[in-house]
Amino acid sequence: MAGNRKFIVGGNWKMNGNKASINGIIQFLHEGELDPSTEVVVAPPAVYLDYVRSNLDKKIGVAAQNCYKVEKGAFTGDISPAMIKNVECDWVILGHSERRHVFGESDQLIGEKVKHALESGLKVIACVGEKLDEREAGLTEEVVFRQTKAIADNVSDWDKVVIAYEPVWAIGTGKTATPDQAQEVHARLRQWLSENVSPAVASSVRIQYGGSVNAKNCRELAEKEDVDGFLVGGASLKPEFVTIVNARK
Ligand code: PGA
Repeated sequence: MAGNRKFIVGGNWKMNGNKASINGIIQFLHEGELDPSTEVVVAPPAVYLDYVRSNLDKKIGVAAQNCYKVEKGAFTGDISPAMIKNVECDWVILGHSERRHVFGESDQLIGEKVKHALESGLKVIACVGEKLDEREAGLTEEVVFRQTKAIADNVSDWDKVVIAYEPVWAIGTGKTATPDQAQEVHARLRQWLSENVSPAVASSVRIQYGGSVNAKNCRELAEKEDVDGFLVGGASLKPEFVTIVNARK
């Protein structure tokens, strides 16, 4: 691990689970010996945030999977950072590729959400990543830098931000980026941050990799200098998540 960046592993449960299966996840998280030098954050569906926060060991963070850009009002179906904080959760994932590409969220909207979430006192896992056609067209950096700029322009406190690099072609497909592919983009992203934000932020901000991370491929990815953790989807619902948390152990 380069610098003093604490390894951070997030579990994005997406739209999965019910109280019974969540109890099972809480059980394996409590019984598993989680590496104390890794920060762990889980992201249940919004209706279960309060339940998970009330039942999960406080040393594990709890994140919402999304939120809106204002505190309250006539926005049917949405939740605000104030509500997330009110149920004692500290984190929110923003800009996930499913929000971008299934729900059509723009760079601008994601930037506005990042701004409001940080101003409200939440910590943010901000996701970026290119689609397959963009990678094949040689546009990976252009896309990732454009998405990162829309986020960076709205960040007031970088200590509260984690970036998740998640190539869309690797999410839920079983097609993981190779450790070298992940490292290459992470290093270029850090260089972009150094040039466009500051060298200090570039060396301290944590960059997670996401996309089909599992118990088998996590160690090799975790060895890469600029990979500071993972954002895990499918495998975060299973006991193998503990192995992923312990990838650096
Ligand atoms: P996956 O999802 O691990 O199921 O590929 C990752 C993510 O979307 O965060």
